Amino acid sequence: MGEELTYETKNGWKSADEAQKKDIFAFSEDYIQYLNKGKTERLACSEAVRLAERAGFCDISKKDRLKAGDKVYLVNRAKSVYLAVIGEDDIQEGIRFVIAHIDSPRMDLKQNPLYEDCDMTLFKTHYYGGIKKYQWTALPLALAGVVYTKDGKKMDVRIGDQLGDPVFCITDLLPHLADAQMQKKATQIIEGESLNILIGSIPDADSEKNEFKMAILKILNEKYGMVEEDFVSAELEAFPAAPACDVGFDRSMVGGYGQDDRVCAYTALKAILDTKACKKTSVCVLVDKEEIGSMGNTGMRSAFFEFATATLIEKTTGSYHELMLKKTFRNSQCLSSDVSAAVDPNYADVNEKRNAAFLGRGIVITKYTGARGKSGTSDANAEFVYQIRKLFCENNVVWQSGELGKVDAGGGGTIAQYVANLDVDVLDCGVALLSMHSPFEIASKLDVYMAYQAYYAFYAQ
Ligand code: MN
Ligand code: MN
Repeated sequence: MGEELTYETKNGWKSADEAQKKDIFAFSEDYIQYLNKGKTERLACSEAVRLAERAGFCDISKKDRLKAGDKVYLVNRAKSVYLAVIGEDDIQEGIRFVIAHIDSPRMDLKQNPLYEDCDMTLFKTHYYGGIKKYQWTALPLALAGVVYTKDGKKMDVRIGDQLGDPVFCITDLLPHLADAQMQKKATQIIEGESLNILIGSIPDADSEKNEFKMAILKILNEKYGMVEEDFVSAELEAFPAAPACDVGFDRSMVGGYGQDDRVCAYTALKAILDTKACKKTSVCVLVDKEEIGSMGNTGMRSAFFEFATATLIEKTTGSYHELMLKKTFRNSQCLSSDVSAAVDPNYADVNEKRNAAFLGRGIVITKYTGARGKSGTSDANAEFVYQIRKLFCENNVVWQSGELGKVDAGGGGTIAQYVANLDVDVLDCGVALLSMHSPFEIASKLDVYMAYQAYYAFYAQ
């Protein structure tokens, strides 16, 4: 480091006084609790709704008309939630959106997952999102999701991350016999079809065939009332079992699974829950499926976003036609609230340090993402970037500007482009992580707190 920067980016801890440090540590305790409760998109969604109801939000179906100060939410298929605080201005003058995603990379069970081999029972999986597969072996895993039994009963499954629970595991080869494996490319060290989860090893005493599989089916039937065919319609996800925790002697960081993007989801959620009154209508959206391209009816490309916004327009103005929705979007602004990569001293050469994000230097604004010459990005307008920069400075939000890696080192995208396509001003703005997409991602508590301050200031304008 030691290069001169054209604008000042200071480590935020240096300017934090004792009172602010106390706030930062207290905030991160609640954040850690949210991480531990919301380890899947369904769990993150239901926990967000629980916190929202506690803060006075209600389901929009309970309100025929909406007025300034009203707080409502719409849930989309249990995996995504749209929360709004109605502003004093006419909604068509624009909404302030903060949008984050609550899905994270993981292992999904296949629809016919259960099998036995070598006197053990296992689950077949299909991984979800961009992962380094070798990071997911020899690691305690938990399981959560929903199962519908043949008679239509919904069973919520969650096992492996509560006190006293057993865990599950994808095994790895011992180094003594790994000569051939270790010669392979990292992408092939663990093959997708080797991501099989070990779930049992006692045979069923009454069965002659498939006795290992049968023993597990009996347990599942007793516990959840399910039979093998019920897996076909189930959604079961495996994720790291370990709880999120403090990192460092100074406890300055949070380590844990799923911080991409629940760090931005929680800070955005907390900002809207704390918004009492606002000029423009404030909306926080927590969406699903970002890690696989924002596809499907629970992702950001779903028409649900337009439906929810149209519903707000209809309930605040008493009328609705398409031009009202278009006008609202045209006047709206959005912070696409997703994580960025912090410079890692072990791999600093993938970054260009003048344009990279650092841990502890505050929330990161990213004018554009994309890859290979800004391909696949929403490039935020100078006017909007200036407005946000000014807002953060005026509200003492510690912030920095960062690009995802060196030019042509790789790249990635966020939901920004899909919102921008609707004629909304959008800027990517979130927390920088170390070890992104790994089972143990790391964030600075100062950056987490600054994200909350940033989103709160955005709503409070
Ligand atoms: Mn993300
Ligand atoms: Mn991601």
